[in-house]
Amino acid sequence: MRNKSSSTCLFCKIISHELPSECLYEDDEILAFKDINPQAPFHVLLIPKIHISTLNDLGVENIDMAGKLFLTAKYLAASNNLEGYRVVVNTNQQGGQVVYHMHMHMLAGRQMKPGLG
Ligand code: 5GP
Ligand code: ZN
Repeated sequence: MRNKSSSTCLFCKIISHELPSECLYEDDEILAFKDINPQAPFHVLLIPKIHISTLNDLGVENIDMAGKLFLTAKYLAASNNLEGYRVVVNTNQQGGQVVYHMHMHMLAGRQMKPGLG
């Protein structure tokens, strides 16, 4: 689903400040905030401000925003002096997605194993 926002979506409520978050970056299209249950010393979620449920709902009209998600990760790495990091987009139930507003996890601050094991 692609929509400006969804009244039932947790991350849309964070975008609209109905729910609080620890914001690290915000512009017209993107918000980056700390994950509430961090899996690494640095664990940030990067989300589009429009409601896109999963990566499968991304369309060609979203290419610019999708590129900006990666550039925002790069910006956060530089501004937080992160030497290395991992980005992950869990997609659908089998992909481990729990919140159905597309998001990029950015993990850093500990040694990651090569590969995804
Ligand atoms: P998923 O499994 O859908 O890829 O990841 C959802 C992520 O959202 C999880 O890492 C979870 O800790 C995080 N999360 C869930 N609810 C909240 C919340 O209310 N605030 C914040 N900051 N993160 C949340
Ligand atoms: Zn949403």
